[in-house]
Amino acid sequence: MKFGIDMGHNTPPDTGARGIKVEDQLTKAVGTRLIEKLKSRNHRVINCTPSRATSVLNSLSKRVNTANWHRVDVFVSLHFNAFNGKVYGTEIYGVSDTSKKIAKPVLDKIVKLGFFNRKVKHGSHLYVLRNTRMPAILIECCFCDSPKDMELFDAEAMATAIAEGLTGESFEKDLNSDPDDSAPKTISIPEILKLQQALNKLKIVDKDGKALEENGVKNRATESATQNLQSILNLNADGIAGPATWGAINQILSQPIVRENHAAGIIVRYLQYRGGADIDGIYGPGTNRAIRKLQAQYGLVADGIIGPATWGKLFG
Ligand SMILES: [Zn+2]
Repeated sequence: MKFGIDMGHNTPPDTGARGIKVEDQLTKAVGTRLIEKLKSRNHRVINCTPSRATSVLNSLSKRVNTANWHRVDVFVSLHFNAFNGKVYGTEIYGVSDTSKKIAKPVLDKIVKLGFFNRKVKHGSHLYVLRNTRMPAILIECCFCDSPKDMELFDAEAMATAIAEGLTGESFEKDLNSDPDDSAPKTISIPEILKLQQALNKLKIVDKDGKALEENGVKNRATESATQNLQSILNLNADGIAGPATWGAINQILSQPIVRENHAAGIIVRYLQYRGGADIDGIYGPGTNRAIRKLQAQYGLVADGIIGPATWGKLFG
């Protein structure tokens, strides 16, 4: 396949949105990685981002002309949205049915990272989609003015998701890289091992209620334990430990001090799960009772405050 990759803006006076982060920098970070990844799997890539332009229209027409001149198979324009700081998520624009079919798996992969699905949309108002002569999509990766999206965003993960969605290939590291691949299912992957160790430390069990074997092997047990944790924390329960899941795991492993009426969210959901309280993410009286009971069982002062001693027992 020959891909035309367009890193949105980056060509003054064609500059992008400024939110918590700057769109120009984000499209460049994702685009550079995406190009590398596609090339690493022997796809041909034409970088359609112009180096200079006299106007915004000139910048846009240069992108289109490059794609048309090189007769790329698929044109991909990378952008980041901005609105009012409150809206978040991912949307992809296409014009033809073929474009929309190309957009769908890309969107699905990005949504798997934890971004809100704002759907594939009709983009006949977009210059680069209207004027390219091949199937073309414009990806609004997420909102650069949304704290939620910018917390979740990782350029490497975003580029991987787009590459996988475009090609249907897996770009996961180490998975297919062993040339002497006689027993592919038993390859130990450091990232999976780290996940198994973390889940065991958090006392998260698999679908059969068992602790995980720490062997670095990607298997159903690890996936189901990951889903278990994701459900407890109210994350997208896809069984894949992406940035959102790792962010949550690391937040819990950082063992913050948690007190009634001072905490909410992921940490509280986890503590409610451990204490057998209703899981709603708010540390109210019910959670307090459950925590005190747990502390009493551990032989600790039952004060309802989760500090180093309680965390020590929870992870012990
Ligand atoms: Zn843009």
